[in-house]
Amino acid sequence: MLSTEPKINNSGQKYLAYQDCLSPNQTLFPLTAKVNNRDCLEIGGCDVTTLVERFGSPLYIVDEVTLRTACRQYLQGFQTHYPGESRVIYASKAWNCLALSAVVAREGLGFDVVSAGEIHTVLTALDQIKKTDVPIYFHGNNKSIAELEYAIEHNCIIIVDNWLELENLVKLGENRPDTPIPILLRLTPGIECHTHEYIRTGHLDSKFGFDPHQIEAVFDYVLAHPLLNCLGLHAHIGSQIFERQPHQDLAAVLADWFKLGLERGLPLEQLNVGGGLGIRYLESDDPPSIEEWVQAVSLAVAKACQERGIAYPLLIAEPGRSLIATACVTAYTVGNRKEIPEIRTYIAVDGGMSDNPRPITYQSVYRAVVANKMSQECQEVVTIAGKHCESGDILIKDITLPKTNPGDILVVLATGAYNYSMASNYNRLPRPAAVIVQNGEANLILERENLADLLRQDRLPNRLSLI
Ligand SMILES: *Cc1c(COP(=O)(O)O)cnc(C)c1O
Repeated sequence: MLSTEPKINNSGQKYLAYQDCLSPNQTLFPLTAKVNNRDCLEIGGCDVTTLVERFGSPLYIVDEVTLRTACRQYLQGFQTHYPGESRVIYASKAWNCLALSAVVAREGLGFDVVSAGEIHTVLTALDQIKKTDVPIYFHGNNKSIAELEYAIEHNCIIIVDNWLELENLVKLGENRPDTPIPILLRLTPGIECHTHEYIRTGHLDSKFGFDPHQIEAVFDYVLAHPLLNCLGLHAHIGSQIFERQPHQDLAAVLADWFKLGLERGLPLEQLNVGGGLGIRYLESDDPPSIEEWVQAVSLAVAKACQERGIAYPLLIAEPGRSLIATACVTAYTVGNRKEIPEIRTYIAVDGGMSDNPRPITYQSVYRAVVANKMSQECQEVVTIAGKHCESGDILIKDITLPKTNPGDILVVLATGAYNYSMASNYNRLPRPAAVIVQNGEANLILERENLADLLRQDRLPNRLSLI
């Protein structure tokens, strides 16, 4: 079992990353994490306590090396293990902003987006780094007409979820009869996997995708409407999945449908197997590495195609969490301590459910360290509480830490996925800043909100301001 205890490597420096297991989704710490000679946590060559002094608290800290490594492992994994062409697209709902989009695009990934806002962010990033021809796939179970128009105008491929959307696309297609709209069809594969109910999407009772019983009718509809250019099929079975079997089962199910579609005359060439690879949040979590997952998916798809005598499609995976989660940590400042004898000790920090809503939403679990006491003995069990007016605003229940004092810097690990992107202004807390670190350099990528930002959308009608 891995531990969060610092390790001493040959050169005497204390490293936290596990040299022998460098798939970012399997490490608790970002890959560049180490303990410096001040006994402080260092990421990307930057002392975390210094970053907090400079950029404030709480602070999201993104390690560029970890993110880039994860991107490369996906891309190289498919190149090594899949006999056909492949494409990796970042499920940007995990964390969508200009800088991260730029890094991911530069690494050669495409994007999976789920709203006009995400499309706008990605397009702006691509424009600023002067990158063209980056594939963008537009997901969603209730895309508005305006969103569809915006996506079509910007050459996104639409991953169609339902009948209403098909009908809306046909109407929109009539305005531009010369250029068919590129689409994939999202199907609900009916595959069960062991993850939280809210992040399970592949079982039949799901709000996402076409019910497979209707597949022939959907194919016929698309064939009858040449304004729709159906390029392929998609399915996504859920998130934070450690098993390989569901993805292998999915390959066979999708290949059956793919064959059916080809036989009906659809010009299918792309097969999108979704994302969902889990990451290690706790020492006891044991996800397959990125390469192991990619290999399992690649071989399963290749085999399913061979067995059915169909040419290898362009294989697409759309990971989110496993690309970005481990790259980021959140640094908080320790504040109040409440000791309830024989019951519990609460340590409060200066953030909570507004910057990390996962514990209160999904009962998610996290590990943390005290960034300025990295080698001190872990001697007390405490519960890390947020500062929100909500009893459930607990970031970590029962964690063993060194004795902390107000002003210490608590660092929660693996907060890159679904933290900032789900952050809110609950209790009118400004959203924290985020920095990206690399080689001893730290750059702001998301400015901290200030009090004025909180009032940006507020309007006071005249009749209420008159006394
Ligand atoms: C959320 C989502 C993903 C990414 O899931 P991860 O578990 O973050 O890898 C991929 N595809 C679809 C359709 C999704 O909804």
